[in-house]
Amino acid sequence: MPELRENLATKRWVIIATERAKRPEEFIKKAEAITHPAYDPKCPFCEGNEAANTGEVLAYRQPGSKVDEKGWHLRVVPNKYPALIEPTGPPAEVKRSKSGIYLRMEGVGKHEVVVESPIHNKTIATMSIDEVERVITAYRDRYLSLDWDPHYKLIIIFRNQGGLAGASQVHPHSQIVAAAIIPYHVRAAIYEAQRYYDELGKCVFCDMIKNEIREQERIVLQNEKFIAFVPYAAMVPYETWIFPLQHETTFADLQPSEIRPLAQILRDVLAKFYHSLGNPAYNYCIRSVPHYSAGEPYYHWYIQILPRITTIAGFEIGSGININVALPEESAKFLREFKVK
Ligand SMILES: [Zn+2]
Ligand SMILES: [Zn+2]
Repeated sequence: MPELRENLATKRWVIIATERAKRPEEFIKKAEAITHPAYDPKCPFCEGNEAANTGEVLAYRQPGSKVDEKGWHLRVVPNKYPALIEPTGPPAEVKRSKSGIYLRMEGVGKHEVVVESPIHNKTIATMSIDEVERVITAYRDRYLSLDWDPHYKLIIIFRNQGGLAGASQVHPHSQIVAAAIIPYHVRAAIYEAQRYYDELGKCVFCDMIKNEIREQERIVLQNEKFIAFVPYAAMVPYETWIFPLQHETTFADLQPSEIRPLAQILRDVLAKFYHSLGNPAYNYCIRSVPHYSAGEPYYHWYIQILPRITTIAGFEIGSGININVALPEESAKFLREFKVK
């Protein structure tokens, strides 16, 4: 019989479609024959094409190299087609106004691109730990400075891999958007965590981590600082969450000593996806809370990875209930036992 499962933290229901559940191997994508070169002269993010994206916000460079020129390991640049535009006035000047019965405000915010490597055909899964460590360091550097800017309430760090996940460029990159509002679904998740804390006096995410360690069957990987598991009510096949084992409210709490273990677990989980499932498209995002909620005992930041192996359809849109055709325990076992050569 199909089973409805509720995500303890988000309260989202999901149907685990045991009747039409697929074996883990059935999700393996037939490897695409397209291989990309290490350098593409037309790519705006390749080394040598810095003129296509100037105004570096942050870069880790070889000694002696100059801003917006060659010789970098990683660059953060403004997005050329930003979803939100940088504010010019003080935060108080961003006004909400009514348009008839509707609410509107200026689209202020910041939209940046983290160009993760000068090499065109790399991806997190195929990078060295040193390279991924650099990516995490950049996320942290940018998060810390945007977090302190009173213009912004929500900072979303995300990565789209593959066309099905919405990536328009092959070149390895992530994006950072800082917005001036807290949208409903983020607020609802924070509220649910707060409610759990009010009722039980515990962080719901710490409880989930403890439960997963006790039950073991949904764990994908664990190291001294982080754990990766397939959530009990995974929305899509192979959804994976990565948590710091220690209670940390916001991504701003990430300690320098945790950067390498985070790089290690993120790289290793994505390498398992890459090698076992045939380089599937995925999105990941870092879920955190606004600056003013820092230090709260009820929220716990994490990385949510959503592979794009199946598509959502009318039922999901209408009900908000996803149908997952993979058993979370089987997906986790498959990933856990897969050894990357
Ligand atoms: Zn490139
Ligand atoms: Zn916690």
